[in-house]
Amino acid sequence: MSKFDSDIITTLKVLIIGESGVGKSSLLIRFVDDTFDPEQPATIGVDFKVTTLTVDGNKVKLAIWDTAGQERFRTLTPSYYRGAQGVICVYDVSNRASYDRLQHWLTELETYSTKTDVVKMLVANKIDREKREVTREEGLKFARKHCMLFIEASAKTRESVQCAFEELVEKVIQTPGLWES
Ligand code: GDP
Ligand code: MG
Repeated sequence: MSKFDSDIITTLKVLIIGESGVGKSSLLIRFVDDTFDPEQPATIGVDFKVTTLTVDGNKVKLAIWDTAGQERFRTLTPSYYRGAQGVICVYDVSNRASYDRLQHWLTELETYSTKTDVVKMLVANKIDREKREVTREEGLKFARKHCMLFIEASAKTRESVQCAFEELVEKVIQTPGLWES
């Protein structure tokens, strides 16, 4: 272990779930590489990206899992969910159907999650778009009902993207027993 690595207090598994096309891969790439590709291919070649983040003076390593397109089959495998401490659930504010499908993703998470107190963050993406089919209040209402953190964001403009991941990780490391072995 290098001197650099020894500062890391833990490695967390974070998942990104939600309907196909809502911007999950774009949010991940914006967060990790700070870029945006308007032609983001539907399937990216990797299952996860690794990065480090310092939250409240604690350096954590994040393995962030992306679906590589499997969500088009409307369900993910149990191994995708296994061991995750944090989940980012995404919908697209310009696409009502993606909001209406949130319950499906939460039910799947509850079915396969191996940690009962997994921290959930609801991200309302694409707020840069003029077209709006879901209000902020509707997003907040769903989040409150399901004990989720909530943020409106844009992978395109980078608004609130960093914040979404930071708040999620902050809550995970504040939750005793979730990450300590
Ligand atoms: P995924 O299927 O959930 O991984 O969604 P992608 O990240 O592949 O994004 C689907 C499409 O939405 C792509 O054309 C992206 O460029 C676009 N997109 C993603 N995030 C945003 C955003 O914040 N604003 C806008 N306007 N488009 C976005
Ligand atoms: Mg994707």
